[in-house]
Order: sequence, then C-alpha cells, then structure tokens
Amino acid sequence: MLEVDQLTTRYGAITALHGVSLRVNAGEVVALVGPNGAGKTTLLNTVAGLLRPAEGAVRFNGADITGTEPATLVRRGLALVPEHRRIFKDLTVEENLRLGGATLSASQRRHKVHEMADVFPVLRAKWSTSAGFLSGGEAQQLAVARALMCDPKLLLLDEPTLGLAPTMVDVVFDLIARLRTKGLTMLVVEQNATRALHMADRGYVLRTGHVVADGAGAELAADSRLFESFIGGSAEESGAS
Ligand code: ATP
Repeated sequence: MLEVDQLTTRYGAITALHGVSLRVNAGEVVALVGPNGAGKTTLLNTVAGLLRPAEGAVRFNGADITGTEPATLVRRGLALVPEHRRIFKDLTVEENLRLGGATLSASQRRHKVHEMADVFPVLRAKWSTSAGFLSGGEAQQLAVARALMCDPKLLLLDEPTLGLAPTMVDVVFDLIARLRTKGLTMLVVEQNATRALHMADRGYVLRTGHVVADGAGAELAADSRLFESFIGGSAEESGAS
C-alpha cells in the first residue's frame, strides 16, 4: 500500500533522512522506532506531504505521491495523526471532528460525526466541551477520531502515547488494536518500542536517518542487542508501558 523508496529529507544543511526505504502492506500494522532525533517524525511528515523530500519517492497504492499536498492525500485515503495531537483547543470536540471532515459533503460529514460518537463514547460524553479541557488520553482519541473522519486507508500515527499516563497508554494501544481488527493499515511511530513492536506485524528501526534493522515485530522486540546498540537501554526499559 505504501512504498517509501530511498527517501532523503533535509532541513537546510541538516539531512534528517538518508535514503530511507520501507513499505507497509495492506492490512499491516508497521512500527517505526528509534532514538530521539532518528528522523521518525520527519519520515511521517514527508509521507504525509508536509515536507518535500530532496530525493527519493513515495508511492501510495502504486501511484507516485511524492510532494503531493496533504489535503489531496487525505482525499486519497492517507491521514496523519501528528505528534502532540494538534487538536484545536478552543473548539469543541464536535467542531474538531467536523474540521476533520472538511473534504466531505455536508451530509457525509454529519454521518461520520455520528459514527465517531458511537465509536468513541468517551468523546460523546464530552461532545460540547472545549478540546483544551480534555485529558491527554481523551485528546489523543479525538486526534485519531478526527483523522478517521475521512475514512483513511492508511493511518500514520506519530507518538500516540507521548505524555500519557500509563492507563491512558493502555487505552491508546487498545484503540490501535481495535482499528487493526477493522482492517485499517497503520504506520505507527512509538516511544514504547517493545510494546509497539510486539503489537506490530513488522517493524523498522531508524537511527540518525538510516534504517538500521527491520523484520517481524516480535523478533525485533526480542533482540536485546539491537535495543542496547540502536535504541538505548534494554528491551524491557524501552518497552515501559
Ligand atoms: P523525536 O523522537 O525526538 O521526535 P524523531 O526520530 O522524530 O525524534 P525528527 O524530529 O524527525 O526525529 O528529527 C530528525 C533530525 O532532524 C534531528 O536531528 C532534528 O534535530 C532535525 N530536525 C527536525 N525538525 C527540524 C527542523 N524543523 N529544523 C531543523 N532540523 C530539524
């Protein structure tokens, strides 16, 4: 479904990705892990059209989408849940969801908003609350629900558990598991490396802009040497849940 081919992305003189290649097959959950500054967010933002790569290509369902506008990608079925969630704190839960459906017709949008209220009872309970009053876990669910408004085929999730209390981390991992059973394809960047790799079908380890390992999620999670040399700390430490 997604093919990233030899992607190089720079911020001025800083090269954040050095010829990174990876793929996500339809129906898969793929985890992208690695230390701070490895280039994980840069990769997701380049795929989602927020950054233009200097070299390389991104293909989605066989079509070259390199450098395509984010709004066009959303219409084609590729949605990003950004790092730090980026919800509109002064708007209500419902208004945030409506914005997520900006590319839909009015009736489609109404339908999807009602669907999200059913899928996320936590949000229904806070329907008219300003998003700034939500807990971290609720805000993350809103960020995911907003991305789901446009029925994505591929969801990119950037650090969905960042800053959450342990119980809310569980809620977000459960949510990812639920979306997976519905057949949604996901590429997930996660700081809880072990847990993310265990949940994923496959994983990639990124370090200083290079893919340094890839393989079945559970196998990568069990590789303590990999964790010590590339991610930092033991597998257990990196998987704090
Ligand atoms: P983290 O887990 O800390 O978010 P990451 O793996 O997502 O890290 P990126 O945020 O993609 O890593 O950063 C990759 C590299 O690019 C780092 O060296 C970072 O300092 C640099 N970088 C990221 N954003 C910018 C920017 N806007 N301007 C300049 N350099 C940047």
